[in-house]
Amino acid sequence: MENCLFCKIIKNEIPAQKVYENSTCIIIKDIDPQAPMHYLAIPKRHYEAIHQIPAEEKHICCDLFDSISMFLTKEGLDQKGYRLVLNSGKNAGQSVFHIHVHILSGREMHWPPG
Ligand code: 5GP
Ligand code: ZN
Repeated sequence: MENCLFCKIIKNEIPAQKVYENSTCIIIKDIDPQAPMHYLAIPKRHYEAIHQIPAEEKHICCDLFDSISMFLTKEGLDQKGYRLVLNSGKNAGQSVFHIHVHILSGREMHWPPG
């Protein structure tokens, strides 16, 4: 996807602070953190939203959550508590149209979200 920011970060065409990488995904620090710890977990395959992933590629979701889980444990966020957020569509606040899960931690969270 030529004009996708996250595809460019995945291909190292744009710099980002990568904190985790495996064959299926990367995890980077968010450039505009909304919590003391704010990361983005991004699958390497480009889809705008989870409902666009075809049935034969649904493993992308499982791989992504496995990677997040390993990262949370490695960083000790499993002990601190964390919030995962996946904005999908403009009304939900999505601004980069390549699937990504926000990982937020390090402060008290409120509910409902804005
Ligand atoms: P969304 O609004 O789509 O749910 O989340 C997009 C996120 O990407 C935002 O939290 C925003 O701060 C982050 N972001 C936008 N541009 C960049 C960038 O160039 N580098 C990094 N690391 N994060 C970015
Ligand atoms: Zn992309």
